[in-house]
Amino acid sequence: MSVQNNKIRVRFAPSPTGYLHVGGARTALFNYLFAHHQGGQFIIRIEDTDQARSTEESLKIILHDLKWLGLEWNEGPDSENLQDRGQHGPYYQSRRLAIYSQYAQKLLQEGKAYYCFLSDEEIEAQRAKAIQDGRPPQVQSPYETWSLEQAQSYMKEKDIKGVVRFKTRSLKKDYVVPDLIRGEVRFPSDMVGDFVLLRSDGMPVYNFCCVIDDALMEISHVLRAEEHLPNTLRQLMIYEACGWNPPAFGHMSLILNEERQKLSKRQGAVSCAEFREMGYLPEALNNFLALLGWSSPQGQEILSMEELIQQFTLDRLNPAGAVFDVKKLKWMNSVYLRALPEQELWQRVEPFLAKANLELPTEMEWRIRALKVFKTSMEVLKDAEELFRPICDKHFFISEEAQEALAWESSPVVLKSWLKNLEARAQDYMTEEEFVALQELVKNESGVKGKHLFMPLRVAVIGKPQGAELKILVPLLNLKSLIHRAQQVLNRY
Ligand code: GLU
Repeated sequence: MSVQNNKIRVRFAPSPTGYLHVGGARTALFNYLFAHHQGGQFIIRIEDTDQARSTEESLKIILHDLKWLGLEWNEGPDSENLQDRGQHGPYYQSRRLAIYSQYAQKLLQEGKAYYCFLSDEEIEAQRAKAIQDGRPPQVQSPYETWSLEQAQSYMKEKDIKGVVRFKTRSLKKDYVVPDLIRGEVRFPSDMVGDFVLLRSDGMPVYNFCCVIDDALMEISHVLRAEEHLPNTLRQLMIYEACGWNPPAFGHMSLILNEERQKLSKRQGAVSCAEFREMGYLPEALNNFLALLGWSSPQGQEILSMEELIQQFTLDRLNPAGAVFDVKKLKWMNSVYLRALPEQELWQRVEPFLAKANLELPTEMEWRIRALKVFKTSMEVLKDAEELFRPICDKHFFISEEAQEALAWESSPVVLKSWLKNLEARAQDYMTEEEFVALQELVKNESGVKGKHLFMPLRVAVIGKPQGAELKILVPLLNLKSLIHRAQQVLNRY
């Protein structure tokens, strides 16, 4: 794309506590697109300080799904061996604890933070009182005025540890975020009280790690979900206290369901893996996610990754909530699916067909022919299962609904004529025209027409009276199968 611009550095910072949510995938995508449009770097940082909830399993899933989407990163954990890759590591917060502690010490020494020994009960009592008095429930710590030495000797004497709180009392002003997506957002400093940086066990809190990491990793732009907007005030305070310029911020719109509520798994799929398993293509999912809160300058709907990178600028991000319209995603998927060359499409459907217990001819010519027929009926890859099943099922079943057509007086005549004419053929597969001619022959021989002709024939081909048109299906079945199927139906009499 454009020239290498090492100054542009963005990151996606997942917590490995679950799967990759489509909202997270969109955040990663927007960061990726911005980095690539600008010739910058895209970094993955693992926010795993919640050690009880973070798992390697989840980390692997998240990295795998990012790779599946094609959102490769320049720095971060290696997707194979999970080791750090890049010059700004470690990329796991759990491996950066000494760094956070060092910065906390610095703030303590400079009097910008202090040790606090309030118990949970005392904090709760303060909260309750504040609420009763109609004040914001902020901590008023008596330890705020203690000197560091005083706090240290207190801890030694009592053999206890305190939390490290950030001092906000002297910061009386409005903090302004020139948000790249929402415009100027103003936060009065008294929206927050003295907040915790390090817990008493030494574990840092999200807002503290995030600032230290973004600064040390030289992140130029923080593009993240809207729900993090309120965190930005605390983060700006920490930047200021550390003497660092904050990065540029952009908070992306929420993703809503069709009822305009926050997308939640109670109403359907929300993880990237679920969409993959349903047979969505990564290129379609990317395209769809890109249009949740961003639009192309020409209003283009179908955009390849190259086009997205080329056209992606932050000024086209929309702050309003974006509706996740599954119907549109399906449509988009079918567009991508139909545009794939059959050979490639086969590679994509094969894992789905493999799970469906089918007997698939091995010749590529057949596979391509079958996909040419079926792909217009497919919206997701998984649809292939039911499209291929009637012709490739390992066992030929004659359905219950077939009984009616088989019971007609004229049906055995039709079926016998069909079998006789099949047996007279030599060629393995027949063309559509040959089938139409054969059907005409059966009609003339049996003197049966209309549904009394078509329905028993359909049963003799796919075991049931409904389904795709026979002239489409028959050319996909070889002579041996057609004969075998016809014989089985005739054996019913
Ligand atoms: N770990 C945070 C999350 O998963 C990232 C927050 C951020 O991007 O600053 O929401």
